[in-house]
Amino acid sequence: MAGSFDIYAPVARRLIAPLWAAKDRSPYLRLLRDLEHSQFFSVEEIRRRQLQKLQRIVAYAYDHSPFYRRRLDEFGYRPGDPFGFADYARLPVLTKKDIRENLAKLRSQEYPAEQLVSNLTGGSTGQPLKFYHDPLRLESRKAATWRHNAWAGYRLGDKAAALWGMPRDIPHGRKLKGRLRNCLLDRTLVLDTSAITEEKMREFHREITRYRPRVILAYAGSLNLFAEYLASEGLTPPRLAGLISSAEVLYPEYRRTIERVFDAPVFDRYGCREVSIIASECAEHDGLHINAENLYLEIEPPPGTADTNAPGEIIITDLENRGMPFLRYRIEDMGRLKAGSCACGRGLPRLEVAAGRVTDFLVSPSGKLVSGAALTVLLVAQTPGIAQAQLVQERREEILVRLVRDQQVPFDEQLMRGKVREFIGADVQVTFEYPEEIPRTASGKYPFSISRVTPGFMREADAGVD
Ligand SMILES: [Zn+2]
Repeated sequence: MAGSFDIYAPVARRLIAPLWAAKDRSPYLRLLRDLEHSQFFSVEEIRRRQLQKLQRIVAYAYDHSPFYRRRLDEFGYRPGDPFGFADYARLPVLTKKDIRENLAKLRSQEYPAEQLVSNLTGGSTGQPLKFYHDPLRLESRKAATWRHNAWAGYRLGDKAAALWGMPRDIPHGRKLKGRLRNCLLDRTLVLDTSAITEEKMREFHREITRYRPRVILAYAGSLNLFAEYLASEGLTPPRLAGLISSAEVLYPEYRRTIERVFDAPVFDRYGCREVSIIASECAEHDGLHINAENLYLEIEPPPGTADTNAPGEIIITDLENRGMPFLRYRIEDMGRLKAGSCACGRGLPRLEVAAGRVTDFLVSPSGKLVSGAALTVLLVAQTPGIAQAQLVQERREEILVRLVRDQQVPFDEQLMRGKVREFIGADVQVTFEYPEEIPRTASGKYPFSISRVTPGFMREADAGVD
């Protein structure tokens, strides 16, 4: 059995959690029970409910958001007229640019500004994107998160450890109330990944060995790093029920390393700040189940392709956020829907995310998109002498390769240049830089590939990596 028997966990789950929720007048536990029930509805029933919710949120957006009133009028929407998924698919997408330029008009006028919860994301451009939720949406986000936690064997009241780059995401702070809540209910030990050092990892390992968490929640890259560190130092990892990976792409080699080192399964979770959990893995690890009670997800095939199985742009509608409706939001990630049903019995549709953010793709001089995630394997994993690499593309004709060399193994610049050209384009110019280390972004992420080149079919004039 993973972890030791934790006598306090059931008390926290059955007593402290409901009391605390009642004190905060928070309905997330009721919403969680609903989600745990509806996840086993049939595919047809889930679709039927989605369409109802879709019609409701569109009608709401029309009535309360000036941006959507105008957009839906232009689109020919008539309040009260029923519509289907196919009609809806013709509504123009909502871009990040739309949000930046129309924030005040997108917001629901039904809520006084001070009642809305504002939120920020670094976004794919590195420029902050501000948006809003109504207070109830925060509750359904929390419920969806706890539903997925349970899939990974982590239930309310259990002890957890987190490797996280944004300390404000972890629900406790320095304030007494936050500390008390963490001690009684959230029970999470945190390693701040925005500034990881070997000493910090060693200390964190000591702490979790004592603390004995049931799960670890972490950014995929940070988790991989920690696993590599434990293995290289010969440190015994804690016994866990599972690990929850999010916020970064969980590359197959990350998963292999993490599962080998911890001898426990990794549950991948894909989401973003704008809509929270989008899709996540169950114990079958066979695609990610879409959070379909809260979100409606479409795949927009790449222009000019007839291949319906090719990954396309992920388009998301938040069925619950009235504070600021997101109707057909282009999140700038690619994916495809997975056919068939999952052995776990859940009716929630499944998604396969294709190699991370759209902006992770490099653009060849001919306009071809090359997946950065694939290149980590094709280009880096298979080229000797590299400790870490980053590809930066400022202009279409040029790739800057930043490399931290592995001191033990010689590195061949010519070989690497040849491979970059093989995958990105024969006419691309390849230059090298050898920094001491590859810098993390402010939130502790390692962008592997950064491209400031935008292929023609994307609307954004600027691109980068969060
Ligand atoms: Zn499943």
